[in-house]
Amino acid sequence: MLTGYEVRRKIANVSRIGRLVLIFPARGGCRVKTELPYQQAVVYRAMRRAGLLQDVDGDRLKPRRGVVAVICGDGDQSHDIFKYLGDICQFYGERRVHPVALNGGPLLIAKNLPLSANLPDGDVLMRHALDGADIKQIDVIIVKGHAPCGAAGKHKADDPEQVVAGILEARQALRAETERRDPDAARGIRIAPCIQISWGEENFRRFRQDEAGYATLMRRQRLWLNTRIEFSLIRHGAKRSYFISPQPEDWDAWMKSDERKKALEVAGTVYASTDSW
Ligand SMILES: [Zn+2]
Repeated sequence: MLTGYEVRRKIANVSRIGRLVLIFPARGGCRVKTELPYQQAVVYRAMRRAGLLQDVDGDRLKPRRGVVAVICGDGDQSHDIFKYLGDICQFYGERRVHPVALNGGPLLIAKNLPLSANLPDGDVLMRHALDGADIKQIDVIIVKGHAPCGAAGKHKADDPEQVVAGILEARQALRAETERRDPDAARGIRIAPCIQISWGEENFRRFRQDEAGYATLMRRQRLWLNTRIEFSLIRHGAKRSYFISPQPEDWDAWMKSDERKKALEVAGTVYASTDSW
C-alpha cells in the first residue's frame, strides 16, 4: 500500500498529460479502430444483395444442445457473438456456447490464406472444435469469421472475397475432417459458415439512406428516416451477423453478378483516391 507522500511523488514524476490521464482516466481506454473501411463495406453489402450473405435463420440450425463456435478471439466482438449465438441457442434449447477461439478464427484453417502458414494453428483450432463437439455432445458447429478482423488485416488477407472464401474453405476442411474421424457421426453434425460484420455507424447510415432514396425524399421524410436509423443504431448497434451460403452456385453467381462489378468499381475508386493521398 502506498503512503500519501509516495502517491504524490508518483504523480509528480509523470508528465502533465499523464497527470491529466490520472485525474480523468479515459472511459474504455485506447481502442484499436474496429470499423469497416467504406471500400470493404460496399463489397460486403453487394454480397448481401447478391444472396451470398443471408439473414441468419435459426430454423436451419436448431441447436438443441448448444453450438461450438469457431471464432476469432477479438475482445471487441466476442460479447456480441456470445449474445447473438446464446440467444439462438436459448430459443431452441439451452444457452450453451462452446467457444474455440484464436486470433483470426476460421481464417487460420484456410490453407489458401497466410494466417497460419508454417504454423499448426489451423489444425489445432480444428481439432479442438471437433473434440469440443464430441465431448459436449453438440451437433452444430458455427464457423464464424468477422470483419474487420485485425489478424486478417495484419496478414493482408482482409479483402472481403478472401475473408468469405476463407470461411467457406474452413467449413469444408472441418466437414472433411469430421467425415474422416467418423463418417456415421459426421452425418448428424451441421457446420454453418457465418460472418459478423461491424459495418461502422457512418457506413450504416449511408447505406440505409441510399436504400431509402434519400436524395429524393422531402425534408420531413428525411427527418423521420434519420430518426429511425439513429434509433436502430442505439438499439442494435452497427454489427450484424449473416450466414454465408455454402452452395458453390451462389459463389459462382456472385462472381458473375452486376452487384460485384459495381461494388468493385466503387471500391477501386476509393482505393485509387486513397493511394494518391
Ligand atoms: Zn479477428
